[in-house]
Amino acid sequence: MVSPFILMEGAPVRDRIYADLAPRIAAASAAGHVPTLATLVVGDDPASLSYVRGKVNAAEKLGIASIQEHLPSDAGEARIRHVIDEWNHADGIDGILVQLPLPSGYDTAGVQQTVRADKDVDGFHPANMGALALKGFSPMFVSCTPAGVMEMLAFYGIDPAGARAVVLGRSNIVGMPMALLLTKADATVTIAHSRTGSLPELCRQADILVVAIGKPRFVTASMVKEGAVVVDVGINRVDDRLVGDVAFDDVRSVAAALTPVPKGVGPLTVAMLMHNVVVAAERKAG
Ligand code: NDP
Repeated sequence: MVSPFILMEGAPVRDRIYADLAPRIAAASAAGHVPTLATLVVGDDPASLSYVRGKVNAAEKLGIASIQEHLPSDAGEARIRHVIDEWNHADGIDGILVQLPLPSGYDTAGVQQTVRADKDVDGFHPANMGALALKGFSPMFVSCTPAGVMEMLAFYGIDPAGARAVVLGRSNIVGMPMALLLTKADATVTIAHSRTGSLPELCRQADILVVAIGKPRFVTASMVKEGAVVVDVGINRVDDRLVGDVAFDDVRSVAAALTPVPKGVGPLTVAMLMHNVVVAAERKAG
């Protein structure tokens, strides 16, 4: 499909997204409103705290304002909904992010639905997910990681139209919206999951293989068609190192294009979040 081998790194794609956003943020700020992101963390999960720090740092560097609320894990759903409700009604807040996962026992889907769809910069609200699935509708926001993958493909000159795509994983956050985006881009898409049979054969049919299952080095060269484009969304910690869901060195020998982990899709999730906040602010300003 593409040759020679392309190492699809995230940094140049992220830099291009930020270069596009910078003048838009400056223009909004000069017009009197600094785009503003509100983030809510519940509990003390170190990974969640680190992800939120990364998002807040990226916002600060770009000139996006951020408001943060950190609640204890036993805060209770009423308090969480109260915070979100205040933000829903706050004119100065453009985007609301509830860092997942919530501690066990919380109704994650219910909390996500509390966020106003036009401030849902994570793209998780059913109204936004539904609009992504329906022909003739446009979501206000698209989930950041799969949206970042689409930016990645475009940046490296990979057009999904007419391609056979396989998405490994069907989560609300990555797999499902990824499959919908590829379908909208005219790929013929198969979604695979933990109950899918004959997975290696299925994966070998893919011109574009997107892997988001959370299983370290699960996809090996024998599961990849010669010349395929392979996008590794997985982030797994193994022996204090971050590794993807794809066995990188092995798959590199057959793939035409492949993302590394880290430094592949990862930076694009935050970049697309920043993009969504700016879009929300611009929309509000009319
Ligand atoms: P989830 O755990 O929510 O979903 C995993 C999906 O993988 C499920 O659909 C599951 O199937 C499927 N699956 C699990 N095992 C297998 C298997 N052996 N064969 C086929 N399918 C399988 O994970 P997420 O979607 O949230 O995340 C996936 C990975 O992506 C993780 O490593 C995560 O850390 C990473 N990630 C990276 C981001 C980034 O910024 N780069 C952002 C978000 C996630 P079933 O539905 O049947 O259970």
